[in-house]
Amino acid sequence: MAGPSAHGPEIGRFEEHLGRIGRALDEFGRFDRPDAVSRRDEWTRGLDVPLPVSGVGPDGVVDELLGIVVPNGARISDPGFWGFITTGPTTVAVGSATAAMLASPQRYTINAFNFIEELSLRWLGELCGLGPEMLGVYSTGGSVANLVGLGAARQWTLEKAGLDPAGDGLDGRSLAIYASTEVHHTVQRAAGVLGIGRRNVRAIPIDDRQRIVPEALREALTTDRAGGITPVAVVATAGTTNTGAIDPLRACGELAHEFGAWFHVDGAYGLPAVLDPRLAEDFDGLELADSAIVDPHKWLAAPVGVAATFVRDRSILHRAFTQEPADYLEGSFTAPDDIQSSMDHMGIPYSDFAVELSAPARGVQVWSIIREEGLEGLRERIRRDNDYARYVAERATDHPRLESLTEPQLSVACLRYTVPGLDGQALDVLNTRLLRRLIRETPFLPSATVVQGAYAIRPCFINPRTTWEHVEGFAERMVALGDELTSAE
Ligand SMILES: *Cc1c(COP(=O)(O)O)cnc(C)c1O
Repeated sequence: MAGPSAHGPEIGRFEEHLGRIGRALDEFGRFDRPDAVSRRDEWTRGLDVPLPVSGVGPDGVVDELLGIVVPNGARISDPGFWGFITTGPTTVAVGSATAAMLASPQRYTINAFNFIEELSLRWLGELCGLGPEMLGVYSTGGSVANLVGLGAARQWTLEKAGLDPAGDGLDGRSLAIYASTEVHHTVQRAAGVLGIGRRNVRAIPIDDRQRIVPEALREALTTDRAGGITPVAVVATAGTTNTGAIDPLRACGELAHEFGAWFHVDGAYGLPAVLDPRLAEDFDGLELADSAIVDPHKWLAAPVGVAATFVRDRSILHRAFTQEPADYLEGSFTAPDDIQSSMDHMGIPYSDFAVELSAPARGVQVWSIIREEGLEGLRERIRRDNDYARYVAERATDHPRLESLTEPQLSVACLRYTVPGLDGQALDVLNTRLLRRLIRETPFLPSATVVQGAYAIRPCFINPRTTWEHVEGFAERMVALGDELTSAE
């Protein structure tokens, strides 16, 4: 009997299949399903079949997708999910990404998606307070975006010494990068990949608001210069992952340039907060950045898989990341002044500005988000998220059995349940248990971090589905659970 697979895969009927999938996602988006782990046996049994010899056909797959897979998905899109710095994407962004998968499976060739790639980068840079000279390239996330920015830094620094590190290697040079103790660890990994070395990222101390101490940065730069070590880059974080702190950008940028180093701003999470007028002073000095990154898949709620690196001069990205001309690419195109078909030219060579050749047209997601909400809509959303964190911190400060461990600069609050007389370690243990109970028993899903040695429960508000109602219930639930845990002792 000829099964459906004998005819090859379905390549049409998008309306029918996506319509069904859309209905299931709307259902999923009511967030009233049981947690996936409560039915783990059921779905693992349903899914864990031997390698299929004959296919079930497109309708069979969509049946399984909607019957077993989607209803047992992650809780990251839930309105009460505030863990790490991640969230579920918005509707139109998912739709745009889906459309691009077929209508422009790659970001290259002369077509509307390729045009939007550049247009959305320009909009995104402007939205994030970067000057019009800052041009960008998309990549998969902050990890790669930092790698690309720091690759540019390495190229620029060593070119000044007459070297081409991307072409020839490092020539035995000792290099270092400078960042606060709070820096995202993808910076260390980037240093490793770039041959600078993870251990050559100097951990500069922070002040009581988790921001880099400029005097300590100067000291580290001075010591290294005396020791013959070349400073490649100073990394300032605009919105640290732990607490949402913004390093003093002007002081960091000026020190970087005084010591001949590149100034990189990691704004993976926080850069869009430049839209909140209350934070203007905190972003002072952003214009000194030689490179800056932002993750639309964080605060802008794009589908996961999109970050942007901006640099002042994109030719440096080309020198740092080109794969060199290849017969299988360049020979298929004509000169840029002779374009008569969309297939005559690649368009802007993004694939030579970072580390991916094949890559989706990610710009359309960013374009759709900015087009849908506009600058004012996004400003509203970011302001509201910052207000959520301030509100939670204030509630914690006002409550006798809660403590706020930070004064939120952005949309991260760090708090804990306290009991008079309990020492730090006992409080850590108590709050660790409290977090587990929150996650297992309530709709509130923050994550944790450590602030000046103290374990903190840490909601990060970037979720477009979160409302005041969710936020207001959270602190109360923490108190109730804390009371329960301590009265049971
Ligand atoms: C999230 C984050 C990163 C890493 O980004 P991914 O998209 O998860 O790879 C880097 N830096 C900062 C400050 C971040 O918050």
